[in-house]
This record gives sequence, structure tokens and C-alpha cells, in this order.
Amino acid sequence: MPVSPAPVAPMRISDLCEAMEVYLNPAQIREVYRSYLFAAEAHEGQTRLSGEAYIYHPVAVAAILVQMRMDHHCVMAAILHDVIEDTSITKPKLKQAFTDEVVEMVDGVSKLTYLKFRSRAEAQAENFRKMMLAMTQDVRIILIKLADRLHNMRTLEVMPPVKARRIARETLDIYIPIANRLGINNIRHELEELAMAAHWPRRYQVMRETLQQRRGNRREWIDDITRILSERLVKDGLSAEVRGREKRAYSTYKKMQAKQCRFSDLADVYAFRVIVDQVDTCYRVLGAVHNLYRPMPGKFKDYIAIPKANGYQSLHTVLMGPQGLPIEIQIRTQAMHVLAEQGIAAHWQYKGERQGSATADAAAKWLRSLLEVQQNTGDSMEFLEHVKVDLYPDEVYVFTPRGQIVELPRGATVIDFAYAIHSNIGNHCVAARIDQQLAPLRSQLRNGQTVEIITKQTATPKPGWLNFAMTGKARTGIRAYLKQLETTEAAALGQRLLEHELGCLGTQPEQIEPGRQAAMLHELGYTDLSELQQHIGLGNRSAALAARLLAFPKDQTQVPVSAPLSIQGGEGMLIHFARCCGPVPGDPIIAIFSRGRGMLVHHQHCPNSGDFRRRGKDWLEVQWDDQVSGEFHTTLRVDAGNQRGMLATVAAVIADSGSNIEDVRSEERDGLSSRLRFTLLVKDRKHLADVLRRIRALPQVLKVGRVIG
Ligand code: MN
Repeated sequence: MPVSPAPVAPMRISDLCEAMEVYLNPAQIREVYRSYLFAAEAHEGQTRLSGEAYIYHPVAVAAILVQMRMDHHCVMAAILHDVIEDTSITKPKLKQAFTDEVVEMVDGVSKLTYLKFRSRAEAQAENFRKMMLAMTQDVRIILIKLADRLHNMRTLEVMPPVKARRIARETLDIYIPIANRLGINNIRHELEELAMAAHWPRRYQVMRETLQQRRGNRREWIDDITRILSERLVKDGLSAEVRGREKRAYSTYKKMQAKQCRFSDLADVYAFRVIVDQVDTCYRVLGAVHNLYRPMPGKFKDYIAIPKANGYQSLHTVLMGPQGLPIEIQIRTQAMHVLAEQGIAAHWQYKGERQGSATADAAAKWLRSLLEVQQNTGDSMEFLEHVKVDLYPDEVYVFTPRGQIVELPRGATVIDFAYAIHSNIGNHCVAARIDQQLAPLRSQLRNGQTVEIITKQTATPKPGWLNFAMTGKARTGIRAYLKQLETTEAAALGQRLLEHELGCLGTQPEQIEPGRQAAMLHELGYTDLSELQQHIGLGNRSAALAARLLAFPKDQTQVPVSAPLSIQGGEGMLIHFARCCGPVPGDPIIAIFSRGRGMLVHHQHCPNSGDFRRRGKDWLEVQWDDQVSGEFHTTLRVDAGNQRGMLATVAAVIADSGSNIEDVRSEERDGLSSRLRFTLLVKDRKHLADVLRRIRALPQVLKVGRVIG
């Protein structure tokens, strides 16, 4: 059973009338009561899953809207919202009893339900389109729908778990983004908590407990800060109300997901809110709190002078509080507060009192632009594409070749898309076609693109992918593969190193007596040979020493005869070639162990390798194998005259000789000549010599040489 807040007591019409007295006149309340009698009669005999009379539901929905101080027409429509859909009452019949304004709202809400679709994507698209259309007609229809959903979410525990989960998913996908875009944050926050409780009950419970525990530990501290802030403001003659703010489970969870971190990694930030009477006071409060505690640089935001896109206004700042704990403060007027909580709904509350609230204006503008989009686009999918950009500013929506929608965080690349489809696709992808155009794995995706992944069964994940994989799914997939690969490769490299060292000692693994091997492994603390080999391969243990222990009894001393290990190139992740000197087959080389990361092969003349040798680090004599494969990085320095197109000419010559340029850097030397650094891929020394010869032959080139170290 999902963990959710305490059940809500059924709302009675008498409670509702009492609540309305605060802002509606008796005639308006009588009208609402008339709609109640009408709805109660229509729903007579119907019960909800919980067993209570059906009429409690529309009354509860109306109560949510009364709390937001919506006008009496909207409250009436809320009470009548299920009449057309769930009873024998028809629209014409409703028209005989109520004004067009009310009936159109009821009709609008009814139309948003029960839509039939062929596919999930289409259902989503069509639902969105209907919602947006309804909104552009009368935004109160959406407010009623949101209140309806909120009450259904509050009473979700009577639903079978599978159905509850599906409703929660729909709430997350459609209702929460709309509430967010319209700035109706009080409803959004409650929907988020309820949806999380129903969709991820276990995570929700853990998150709530952790938050409460952390807050509990700091109770005194929070009370102290609240008191200190209040006292200071009183002393400065500023009338203001200071409140501590609760951290919510859903937003904390989202933050952890976005940052891909654990709860304990989230900064211990405590949030306070200061509500004042007028705009001018906001800035004076800011001055007072900045005087009290040191403000953190770069954290002050003036959303009063420059409201957010949805019209939100407040001053934000972060102070360095006592015990080094950061204090987050939001300062706003009561009017800004209502707008921040209720968004477009606040428009009604402030109608007449305040002309053109920023939020209502922003929302109205957005709705108008939606109407334009709606008029210009024929089909739902295209409309969805436009609308989603607005509704989910932090996400991109792309399509599979079959039209399925894939949701990714902004900045996601082809590799994220591949892993989002399936880890098998991710593990074997090589490139993609974005809108029919061939594109590399690192390409960032934009809204509405159609992406097709090209896979090759022999392709495998590369460590470099982690530089542009954004989603947790892709990163985890790549890491898991590399980890497993590293273990296998480390063991293989360790085996080679060990056999090589044994060979130097004039013996072979097969000649080692099994009992001796077991004793040695035991002595070194390994369970089996492959574990020792892995450690050798990763550079955590010396192969020479292990070989000696295996080959000879303890007391016997022996000076090993050294013969270099051969390097074949393309060994994988544990043999790397140093970028500083770029050794190529044919060069004299030396290998240095870096702990936990395998071997790094340097040119013997590389100054860095010399350093290592002098310092007596773990190094190993190596030589190139007769059968070397692959291409190797090396760096050239070219001094050339400053003629136009010189860089292009040199690059063309390099390409002509069958070498790939990985990087070019140009540094101006003087007015006449410039120095260029090329990093290229060559097969061996012969290939490199050919490249050098061709460059040297160019008339513009003054000097060319290889960079070692
Ligand atoms: Mn309903």
C-alpha cells in the first residue's frame, strides 16, 4: 500500500459554504448551493470506490478551488463537473438550469476524459492537444481538471495498486507539467508528493524519513535562525514574517537524479522565507540579512526586477550561517507569495485589485501563443512537439524511427538515446542517423529529431563515451561494461607479464608444482591465480617478484636474466601509449606501471620516462612485437611561412600519406612564419618518416620535426 498523507475527511457542503463566505456574496453562495442540489440529485445512489456517496467528490474538488478563491461560476462548474460524464444529464438539459458560462466549463472538463487511442505516444499527444485547447478556451477548465486530479490523487489508496500506479504516471506526465507551466505551485507540489508516493512508494518512504531525520537533527538550529532573523527585522523597524521551509521528497529526489548523487552528497541547505507588505521592504530586508550574515557571492538573484519566464517574483540570496551551514532566503511580498503559490489562479483573487499581475500575464501570453501553434499545426504529434518544449524546458523529446517518443535531459547525446532504447543497443552502437543524416555518437539531440541508431555486433563501449554520456542509464551501462572488460583484460595482461617473467627465469607456468603455486597465492593473500594476474595487470603487484616466488624456493636467490616483454599494440585498456612522446612501432620504448591503471608505454628518449627511471619507479623493459597492429598517436612540430592556405596544404599532404590528423594547434611565432603542432595517427616509424618527408618537401615549410616529451 502506498505511503500517503493522512486520509482527508469528507468535505461537506456546509463547510464549503462557510469557506465561501470569506470572499463571495450571499447571492453567489446561493447559486453554488443550487448547483450542489442539482448535482446531488443527479449523482443520487452513486458511490465512489471508497464507499462514500459520490457527491463528496465534486464538493471536495470545489473546495480546492474555493481555497484558491476562484469565482462562483468556476466553483459551480466544479460541483457539476462529473454530471454530463457520469449521469443521465445531457448538455442541453444542463443549459436549462445554468448559464452558458458554467455549462461550457462543465462540457470542457467532460471532453477531457475518455479518449481512445491507437498508441501510447498518440494518446499522450492527443491528451496534450485537448488539454491545451481547453486551456485556450477558458483556463478555469484546466483549474477544475487539476483540482479533480488532486482530489483523485488524495483518495488514491482505494485503487488497486496497478491502477494507482498508472494514474500516478499520468499525473507525472501530463498534469504536473501543466500545473508547473501555469505556475500553480501549491497544486503541483501536492500532486508531486502524492504521485511519488504512489509510483515509487519505497523511495518516497525512505526519502521522507531521511528528510525528517535530517530536519529533526537541526530543529534547534532552525528555530534559532528564525528567531535571530525576526529579531533583527523588528530592530530595523521592518514588518515581516519569517518562516522555515520544508524540503519536499519529490524535489529532493529530482535533484538527486539530476546531479546523479546520493542523499548524503546533497548540500545541507536550510531554506527560509520572509514575507513582507510591500516591494520596497523586500530590498530593505535583503540589506538587513546581508548585514547579519555574510552573503555567498554569486547567489543573489533579483527576480523582482527581472521576473522569471512564468512571472515568478522574489529576491533570492544565500547566507553563510552559524556553524558554516548555508541559509537560503527568499524575500517577497504577500501578493508575490500568492502568485508564486497559485500562479494563473491568483489572477482571479487579485482581479480588480491589482491590474495585470506578472504571472497571469505570462500565462495568458503563453496560452495565446499556444492558440497560434494550434492553428498552424494539423496533427497532434507536431503540436505535442511544440508544446512539450514549453512544458518541459529541461528535457528534450526525440523520436525513434517508429515514432515512439523518448524523453531525455537537455544536453543528452546519441549515446544517451542508444542506452535509453536498450543497453544492448548502447553497448554495440557506432553512429546514428539523425533525421536521415549520419551523425557521430557525441552529437547533442534537439527536440523533435528522429534518431536511428546504427549498431555493429563487434563494437564495444569506449572509455571516452563517458565524456559525453549524460544520463545515469548510459553512464552506468558504459561503466559496467568497462569494469568487466578491465577485469578480463587485467587478468590477460597479468598472465602475459607473469609468463614473461617466468620465461626470463628459465621456467614456464606448467613447470611450477601446483602445491608451490597454492602456497604462494595463500602467502600473498589471493584466492586464485586469476586474482593475482588481475592485480599484476593493474600494476598493483610486481610480476617479477611473483615469478621469483613461484620459480624458486624462498632461500634461493637468483638474478633474473632480463628479456623485454613484447607489445603488440591494440592490447586494450591496460596498455596505454604516452601522449607526451607518442611512441610508434620501431621506436625504442619503455613501460611504466601506474597503480590500478595498467602500463604506460613511453619513448625511451622521453624526458618523462627518464624521470621515472631515476626515481626508481616500477618500470619494465619492453619491445615492439614483430606483428604490431593499429595506429599510434604522435606529435609533429611544423614551422612554415605565413602564406594563405598554408595550414590546408600541410593538412592535405598529411592526409595524402594515409595518416589521420587528430588535433592541430597553431601558435603565431612572428609576422612571417607560424608554428603548428599536429597530432596524427601513424602505423609505424616508416609511415611516420614518409609523412615527415612529404611535409619537408613543401616549399612553405621551414622546419619539421617530431615532438618527444
Ligand atoms: Mn471527477
